[in-house]
Amino acid sequence: MTDQGTLYIVSAPSGAGKTSLLKAMLADTADVQISVSHTTRKQRAGEQNGRDYHFVSVDDFQRMIVQNAFLEYAEVFGNYYGTSREWVQAQLDEGTDIILEIDWQGARQIRELMPACRTVFILPPSNEALEQRLHGRGQDDEEVIAKRMAAARREMSHYDEYDYLVINDDFEVAKRELQAIFVAERQTTNNQKRRHAQLIDNLLA
Ligand code: 5GP
Repeated sequence: MTDQGTLYIVSAPSGAGKTSLLKAMLADTADVQISVSHTTRKQRAGEQNGRDYHFVSVDDFQRMIVQNAFLEYAEVFGNYYGTSREWVQAQLDEGTDIILEIDWQGARQIRELMPACRTVFILPPSNEALEQRLHGRGQDDEEVIAKRMAAARREMSHYDEYDYLVINDDFEVAKRELQAIFVAERQTTNNQKRRHAQLIDNLLA
């Protein structure tokens, strides 16, 4: 495992700002890739197939389960979501760090398979703020929002299974905190040994 990239998991209830935070953080972070999951849920306005998700049918998803194509998968809000085993393996083998934006069920599966992964949970500053953000999206009706609030509480109840906890109250502060986690993790001796093998060899020659 020592010559492989680091696998990060970032989970949050929907509406906590996970995707925006990651996007902002990645804009100034090199050598890290976000995994694009497969899902059977309907494409939302503004989403692009292949960029936000690989949108597939239930039949295709089930075929992929049988083919062992998923490193992990779970049912969330009545839809399937899964992470491509092949893509993750290829990135890690190349030494690229990757981020999986997945729920607590997927995080549990990955922790079992890859105990060296690092996991981050993002919380909203309050239930009110979370509900406001869900409304702000303007993509779901009241009933769906009520369901998502209940699901958010279930998702949040798993926060203490994660290595790091970020509260997204002020966006810029949360972004810096998230960035600090990735920066610190990269400076661990084990990771630096892998990233700068040549330099260290030269220094010690
Ligand atoms: P949304 O439909 O709002 O994009 O995502 C709903 C939930 O599914 C989020 O909690 C998100 O983290 C989770 N999710 C997205 N992709 C995956 C995946 O590949 N695996 C798992 N287990 N959860 C995922």
